[in-house]
Amino acid sequence: MTSRTQRASPAHHTLYQVSTATALVEGVYEGAVRVGSLLEHGDLGLGTFEHLDGEMAIVDGHCFQVRSDGSVRECDDAVLSPFAVVTRFAPEETVALQHCTDLSGLTARFDALRPTDNFFFALRVDGHFDYVRTRAMCRTEEGVPLVRAAAVQPEFEFHDVSGTLVGFWSPDYARTLNVPGYHLHFVSDDRKSGGHLLQCRADDLRLQIQREGDYRVVLPETEDFLKADLHDDPSADLAQAEGAKK
Ligand code: ZN
Repeated sequence: MTSRTQRASPAHHTLYQVSTATALVEGVYEGAVRVGSLLEHGDLGLGTFEHLDGEMAIVDGHCFQVRSDGSVRECDDAVLSPFAVVTRFAPEETVALQHCTDLSGLTARFDALRPTDNFFFALRVDGHFDYVRTRAMCRTEEGVPLVRAAAVQPEFEFHDVSGTLVGFWSPDYARTLNVPGYHLHFVSDDRKSGGHLLQCRADDLRLQIQREGDYRVVLPETEDFLKADLHDDPSADLAQAEGAKK
């Protein structure tokens, strides 16, 4: 990047992350940060909870927990998380997407909005969905690898539901730290349904995107993180755990 383009670029938005993708894959599920602390660093984000107890979605500064029984609740500041990613969302671009036939159609539209594969991007989608399929992790014992935990995760289907998707696109080079590619969590407008997004279909969506040029990773000072073996590349396990069941 030349100094000229640096001067011309907007203020760098900060992606604030607690723990790493490898640690999550290895079963490091001890609570490392409180929700209140996460909300000091951002108003949009995702993650999970202590002992992998469901999916986290942060929308407009409110943190929601979607449990494996499908229930959704707003969390108070004291709730603990072992892994989360947040940002202060001030989108640079807003576009409409008509006739989104599936998740790949949605991500293709975001692809067209991303000028590079080498930055992180924060994403938000609002609208009325014909169909949404999600999953939510079950509360899991410390040390059980993510792939084994994910093998029993319940999936949920919602029809005719208004809601918001929040999440990120992360570069492949960061695969030991974050989930590479697109990662989105859903919460309905009535806050009664949600989860980690597996599939969706909609006719009229509003997409927003923000480039993240400042990447902060805070490492947990928990016993399990200090002792974890984080040598392995987690991408294959992550793809299996985060994607739809085959
Ligand atoms: Zn997820």
